[in-house]
Amino acid sequence: MSFSSLGLSDALMRAVSETGYTTPTPIQQQAIPAVLNGGDLLAGAQTGTGKTAGFTLPLLQRLSTDAVGAKLTSNNSPRAIRALILTPTRELAAQVEESVRIYGKYTKLNSAVIFGGVGINPQIKQLKHGVDILVATPGRLLDHMDQRTVDLSKVEILVLDEADRMLDMGFIRDIRKVLAGLPPKRQNLLFSATFSDDIKALADGLLNKPATIEVARRNSTVEIIAQKIHPVDRDKKHPMLAHLIKTHQWSQVLVFTRTKHGANKLVEQLEKDGIGAMAIHGNKSQSARTKALSEFKDNKLQVLVATDIAARGIDIDQLPHVVNYDLPNVPEDYVHRIGRTGRAGATGEAVSLVCVDEHDMLKDIEKLIKQTLPREVIPGFEPDPTARAQPIQLRSGGPGHRNGGGGGNRNSGAPRKPGGGNGNGGGNKPRSASGNGGGARSGGGGGGNAPRAAAQHRSGGRGR
Ligand code: AMP
Repeated sequence: MSFSSLGLSDALMRAVSETGYTTPTPIQQQAIPAVLNGGDLLAGAQTGTGKTAGFTLPLLQRLSTDAVGAKLTSNNSPRAIRALILTPTRELAAQVEESVRIYGKYTKLNSAVIFGGVGINPQIKQLKHGVDILVATPGRLLDHMDQRTVDLSKVEILVLDEADRMLDMGFIRDIRKVLAGLPPKRQNLLFSATFSDDIKALADGLLNKPATIEVARRNSTVEIIAQKIHPVDRDKKHPMLAHLIKTHQWSQVLVFTRTKHGANKLVEQLEKDGIGAMAIHGNKSQSARTKALSEFKDNKLQVLVATDIAARGIDIDQLPHVVNYDLPNVPEDYVHRIGRTGRAGATGEAVSLVCVDEHDMLKDIEKLIKQTLPREVIPGFEPDPTARAQPIQLRSGGPGHRNGGGGGNRNSGAPRKPGGGNGNGGGNKPRSASGNGGGARSGGGGGGNAPRAAAQHRSGGRGR
């Protein structure tokens, strides 16, 4: 199937052909006609499937060719926001808006992105100037709504991108508040990688007789990524990584660490080896994160070290190498991590440096992906066969063991994600209360019993 059979306008076809894509991905083949039809859509797709173009292209088409679109050229009234795209993270918001600009290049529509962590005034100015398509993270959008610096009364199309992540990050209340500020008659598109009960409940309340499409989960498409385990001693991981980068002359490597502290430490060590590296995680300012990401994308930075949440939604075409310096706490995150490589058909390589402490985690991952990953011992880095496992350190500093103290059993109800601001009060926080990865969102007390929804922390959050 080619893009031309999907009924896209010349302006969009021209932009698509400039990107070099010749064949629509499965999600695009299904989502584009469904959205062009004008109905609601429930789509199961992860990043890496081409979902962004799957909703951006038909959205642009609908806005640029319908009657209201024609108005754009016929009078001078200021533009009104006609499409709103909500995303869980700043990085994803920026990337989605970039896609809107790329695909909408030959239309008359314009777009803007608003998220937190950066000044609000330039955003206010931009909104005042007139925006057709707004991409936003929920928290900052609510700030604008509170201040009445955004007018959503003309929204015709709403997209919730990575809705499951938004719920995981505690945005449900923010989302509901945003929804309450939208006109009731509109087209709703909901994209989610998973369909938990929470997502189903959200979809039930939001969508009107939606078309449903689901493309293969990435769990089943990881075959295009060559995966390898390098067994290694805990304290040899850094020299092994430097060795791999140097001997294979890897020029663009995304490295995952479990903690923010681990990321910073690794960057320092790599710098000492003469390997250019920067870290992105929740404690870094937005400008530092943006800078690191753009240098990495432009191939000016050899190694980007990231924690799981900071890396969400990072979209780099043909990223050749992903390294799991530490295995993730949650097996699904392994799939998300390695999905950063081998995107949309490109081949990639994902290697994991695994020490004795992580053997159980590896077992869980192999169970999830239904594969036994090949082990390759690197000469000079043979692991000590007598080494004993130690508890895994979950967070940087503080009482950071997976159990909040005591033993090292990692199934103890400790928070799902490391990181998160003030959660030093113990190990009782339910899943994802600290899951924003960016401590900044946790504006409030550091008690251990924070409820799951992070919406209570309304100041300075990661997604805003
Ligand atoms: P997404 O799932 O939207 O994050 O897209 C994943 C990656 O696939 C991005 O790097 C896109 O640039 C790329 N991509 C999107 N559509 C296509 C296509 N039809 N053919 C090849 N690559 C694509």
